[in-house]
Amino acid sequence: MEEYIPDEVIAEVRRRADIVEVISEYLPLKKTGRNHRALCPFHPEKTPSFMVSSAKQVFHCFGCGIGGDIFGFVMKSENLSFPQAVKVLAKKFGVPIPQRRVSPSVKRKIDRREQLSKVNRLAMDYYHDLLFGRDGTEAREYLRKRGIGKAVIEKQRLGYAPHSWNGLVNHFLSKKVPLNLAEELGLVIPKKTGGWYDHFRGRIIFPIFDLTGNVLGFGGRALDENPPKYLNSPESALYHKGQSLYGLYVAKGFIREEGLALIVEGYLDLLTLHQFGFKHAVATLGTAMTESHIRLLKRFSNHFITIFDSDKSGTAATVRALPLFLDEEISCEVVRLPREHDPDSFLQGGHRDEFQEMLFQAIPIFDFFIDEVLSGSDLASADGKARAIDEILPMVEKIRNRIIRESYVKKLGERLVLKEEVILDAMGRPPRRGERRREELKQVIHKKMYPKTEETILEIMLRFNHLVPEIAEDGVLEDFENQQLKMVAKTFKEIYFEKGALVIPDIIAYVEDDELRNKISKWAFLDEIFEEASLEKTLKDCFRKVKMGKLKRDEEALLSRIKEVEKEDRQDLLGELLAKRQHLLTRERNLVEMYKN
Ligand SMILES: [Zn+2]
Repeated sequence: MEEYIPDEVIAEVRRRADIVEVISEYLPLKKTGRNHRALCPFHPEKTPSFMVSSAKQVFHCFGCGIGGDIFGFVMKSENLSFPQAVKVLAKKFGVPIPQRRVSPSVKRKIDRREQLSKVNRLAMDYYHDLLFGRDGTEAREYLRKRGIGKAVIEKQRLGYAPHSWNGLVNHFLSKKVPLNLAEELGLVIPKKTGGWYDHFRGRIIFPIFDLTGNVLGFGGRALDENPPKYLNSPESALYHKGQSLYGLYVAKGFIREEGLALIVEGYLDLLTLHQFGFKHAVATLGTAMTESHIRLLKRFSNHFITIFDSDKSGTAATVRALPLFLDEEISCEVVRLPREHDPDSFLQGGHRDEFQEMLFQAIPIFDFFIDEVLSGSDLASADGKARAIDEILPMVEKIRNRIIRESYVKKLGERLVLKEEVILDAMGRPPRRGERRREELKQVIHKKMYPKTEETILEIMLRFNHLVPEIAEDGVLEDFENQQLKMVAKTFKEIYFEKGALVIPDIIAYVEDDELRNKISKWAFLDEIFEEASLEKTLKDCFRKVKMGKLKRDEEALLSRIKEVEKEDRQDLLGELLAKRQHLLTRERNLVEMYKN
């Protein structure tokens, strides 16, 4: 549910927040002249081309071209929507967001979630206290043997559910918790004869948190050999296993710090990793990776390493995750542990340094996938090769980056001892659609073309605000060829006449196209390019070119219309069109005259 945030709140956040202060929390900014500079967080680079202007409240990277205002930065850094970014900054700068009136049914839903969350929290505290109580000896001993220390236990709020049928039930009764809520969360189970009994018994309890620390559900590992070894909370209004990652609440800061997320399968794998100092790890809770998992993690990093068991199911899980990573354009690598090992057993077996080394040596998930397919194929036969290609190519086609895609085609060719052309041929090129397709393509290219002269006029307006009325009055802005730049020009005009100056964040707030926004943030830093002295000449030059361009386009359109009319032999229309053409030519001559020297 996307929240609506009133404009006044957005304006107030803008007023209070300082872009340099905010960005400084993400990266070290260095003051250079009027601006601040840093290594770009959005593309790898060795010399800083990421600029921040405090005066203009805007950032721009001259390496990758990304730019925007304070909200844009937070959105990109945390992978948030606009309202989410506003909320984060509003909270940070103490701007209250008025509660929206919600319908009674929505209100009931929110209240219910809050109540459920409270019940889960009570249960977590109950289990956690028991772990350190008299009954918790066995559980503490178990964790000690598994090498999990007190710090990790506290941080992850581990607990213990005793071998009792009504421990939690009685606890809830004493706290006057409505047991139907606890039942909904799967914490207690109704008895046929009335009443309830505890769901988790004789287990270590692992609370599962959301990003803000609410308890969504629990996992429980049996202390004895009674199956099932692991028991989880059922799906509920709070807990959806395909959308939750175990340990993320604790790990998220470390993931951002390391620029990397380690993904494992189980609770104990995760705890062991944290125990050994790999705090940027999360666990998928025994389910396959889902799109939601990846989106969740993407808020904190774009680089993942999966460390699944080396057995068949671990391999299968990795391969299944591949298309998700490709779809989300995430760089994911794979660590292959020695046979018979999971991350827990490997680290506890005294291989910490080796494990660290393996993280450095992790292979791209796509290579892992190719290895898997090829090792299971009969590459001696043409049929076997064809099957392997059949399996691999659909994934290759999913790779969006052309250079990476081509490198895999090449790699595949080498591995299969086949010419690249053979593989490319199999890749099902898009069918040719002749003229129409070319036309479409032309339009796309056209839309993306930003005529230099039009850009220059906008840059001048931005730099010399006082010229805006004069430029607007001239009418040249109506003659822009690029519709998007025309829209920006209109926005400039409106903002200037409303506020008496062009405030960049205001402009950025109006512009929806990413590429345009990047452009505007760039112009903000191009202060020095115009010499006041030659300004008038530059402007005049641009005016002439833009206006002439418009006349030429009109003429072109007119000529093709004339051709049509001639074909249809419609003399009545022809006369009118030819007169129009004469008029155009006169205007062209006038224009040349007007802008002479
Ligand atoms: Zn960059």
